[in-house]
Amino acid sequence: PKRLVLILGDQLDRQSPALRDFDFQNDEVIMIESIPEAQVVWSHKAKIALFLSAMRHFSEELKADGYPVHYVQESKLSIVDSLKEILLEKGIRHLVCIEPGEWRLKLAIEKLAKDSKVQLDMREDSHFYCSHQEFRDWAANKKELRLEFFYRLMRKTHNILLDKDGNPEGGQWNFDQDNRKPYPKSGPGIIETPILFEPDAITQEVLQFVQSHYSGYPGSLGHFRWPVTRDEALEALQYFVDYRLRNFGIYQDAMWTDTPYGWHSILSSSLNLKLLNPREVISAVLDAWKKYSLDLSTIEGFIRQILGWREFVRGMYYLDMPKMATDNFYDHQRALPDWYWTGKTKMRCMQDAVGQTLKYGYAHHIQRLMVTGNFALLAEILPSAVCDWYLAVYVDAIEWVELPNTAGMALFANGGRFTSKPYIASGAYIKRMSNYCGGCQYKSDVRFGENACPVTTLYWNFLIKHRQQFDSNPRTRLMTANLKKISDDDQAAIVQHAQQVLNNLNNL
Ligand code: FAD
Repeated sequence: PKRLVLILGDQLDRQSPALRDFDFQNDEVIMIESIPEAQVVWSHKAKIALFLSAMRHFSEELKADGYPVHYVQESKLSIVDSLKEILLEKGIRHLVCIEPGEWRLKLAIEKLAKDSKVQLDMREDSHFYCSHQEFRDWAANKKELRLEFFYRLMRKTHNILLDKDGNPEGGQWNFDQDNRKPYPKSGPGIIETPILFEPDAITQEVLQFVQSHYSGYPGSLGHFRWPVTRDEALEALQYFVDYRLRNFGIYQDAMWTDTPYGWHSILSSSLNLKLLNPREVISAVLDAWKKYSLDLSTIEGFIRQILGWREFVRGMYYLDMPKMATDNFYDHQRALPDWYWTGKTKMRCMQDAVGQTLKYGYAHHIQRLMVTGNFALLAEILPSAVCDWYLAVYVDAIEWVELPNTAGMALFANGGRFTSKPYIASGAYIKRMSNYCGGCQYKSDVRFGENACPVTTLYWNFLIKHRQQFDSNPRTRLMTANLKKISDDDQAAIVQHAQQVLNNLNNL
């Protein structure tokens, strides 16, 4: 009997396990562009365009390979309603798919299959090193779930960056200490620009469609240069390891105005759409290490992001959903300031991080974590509102990776289930790691009063408010120890000024 093989927009791999046993005589591939799907979350125009263009290219490739593809363009129904209609229409009782990277969709497909008595064959995604079972086994008897130990296990299990005796290459598992440098005072110097792809005919058509159908949506399409095919993604990977990997490690955390990409790989969207497999990314990085004699700290730092963080957050997502989406450890309830959608704020750091996000649909990790994420935590914003923003504005945002990073890492919304402390910092950190503060009307070292940096005011306010929690954790005790150096009067002034800031978040 005929089977329908559903391929979602972030599952664009011709080697997909969903196609493993495809019967060319009987089976049919189904791909659905759903207009309401982009409305479930309010998305950046470039994110919508990237998905649509990559899907259309992928369906063309499948057809060229001889697959019968039923491609639903611009459906007015949700993915699941559209799928239901097609299953009914074609009288198909067997559905094959890969597990969706979004909990809501996974449940909806399972429910559809159950309700319509369709046999569902949901297969595990092959774009990860660690299976759900392996992750559950690892997490099962742990008191604390920490990246570092999981990452070491992954290194050992997959024999990556180990010497011939099975010890970590270079005698250390982690070279993070070497990977936290700001750019020199004179600026980042010449950085090889990332490879950019001119929109072809398919992409241009998509860009026009998105411009007309989603004109009120956030973000710009004017800078759309993302890889939309596997060939382009492979080219982007090669370009990165040849030209940009060498300084990845050292400047991984550095920020500078008008330097949207720094030395980062810009591979997340290709990895998340499954145009690239993490195994080939790691293999290319290891080859480049030898070929160009690159620093081990850069190689280890990069591999930790893919083999460590990417796998870890994915494991946590499936372990902790659906609770992860509603956790709110600090019971924060404030609305997200409007300038997250416009970049119109006087804070230079936010201007730059939000501005480049709206322009490109991209910001690097430290901008996401320590600029916009840090502010959202200190400003006591409702976690789900913050998560909606991250899911909307980044072209690489899919819930399995966005939610644990935002709710878990940036906002501590799950009370430190997989982080040892809240990632908070004052304006001093931003000043150290960037040139943002130079031209800013707010002064990063002023804690209260007219010129006080809102990040700094809110940082100290947060520490005062949560002093007990920070005191009780050896990892954060040093932060509250610094509070003792601030007089009671000044602390009172901080709290008072913070109230004004919190009541005035839209006008900072
Ligand atoms: P690089 O810095 O070059 O890193 C290489 C690769 O490592 C990335 O492409 C990515 O695949 C992986 N990686 C690095 N850090 C992480 C991480 N913390 N978690 C998972 N994978 C990681 N990443 C997403 O892919 N999608 C998201 O929606 C997303 N949302 C985030 C939200 C917040 C609040 C934070 C703090 C981080 C988020 N990240 C997300 C992680 C990280 O910021 C991005 O993966 C990275 O900035 C993508 O740019 P890049 O490809 O240049 O990465």
